[in-house]
Amino acid sequence: MIFGKLRILHSHGRQYIPDLSKVELTAEFRGRPVLTEDGDSRDIERAAAICPTGAISPHPFTLDMGRCMFCGECARCAPRNIRFTNDYRIGATRREDLVIAAGQSAMRFDHSAVRDEVRRMFSRSLHLREVSAGGDASIEMELGATGNVNFDFGRFGVSFTASPRHADGLVLTGPITKNMAEALDICYRAIPEPKILIVCGSEACSGGLFAESEAVDRSWLDSRRVDLWLPGAPTHPMTFIDAVTSLRKKR
Ligand code: SF4
Repeated sequence: MIFGKLRILHSHGRQYIPDLSKVELTAEFRGRPVLTEDGDSRDIERAAAICPTGAISPHPFTLDMGRCMFCGECARCAPRNIRFTNDYRIGATRREDLVIAAGQSAMRFDHSAVRDEVRRMFSRSLHLREVSAGGDASIEMELGATGNVNFDFGRFGVSFTASPRHADGLVLTGPITKNMAEALDICYRAIPEPKILIVCGSEACSGGLFAESEAVDRSWLDSRRVDLWLPGAPTHPMTFIDAVTSLRKKR
């Protein structure tokens, strides 16, 4: 009987990813964009005009990943100028580093912006409370996936907790709707110091498609120090894992 069960387990193969730092996503995944100014500049202007979130600026030519919904329409409109790679390493410690310029070939993760206490306190264990402030549950599902059998981020001491009192930091998703602003603030204040703040998803980074909505009030974020900015619509589990790992890494 035991041999039958062992045979079944063996047939499942190895489900977890042994080395998360070597993950490569499929070519279809839309991650870090690459911009080139070759060709007809009218294509760039057309791409900027159709972008639903105003993420593209033609002069100078830039693409703000913090606003981008990764729909791919601009790349179809200006294929010689905009291409999305499958690079999921797109987290940043500073909001301005989410803006990709023409000719830029890699993301900048500014380690000097990471507080020493973050690495000192959270490099071995990090418990996070997630607050969906008007989110659509897509990023929440991806965050849940970080702990599944494939990614198993919990083996590195990172997990989500139900109580803010037991948390070391907050992961914010969603554009911050007015009706969630107070609950978000209460939850954030309940987390003991020192704490980190991770802004996860393009909607949380900029408001995304709902930036101009009357139901959104992003003033809460204005007076907060953000430790990580993670673009994506939704943010891929590997983007989250890669950026949180970089944040905790001892220099
Ligand atoms: S992929 Fe991003 S930049 Fe391009 S059109 Fe969509 S939202 Fe705009």
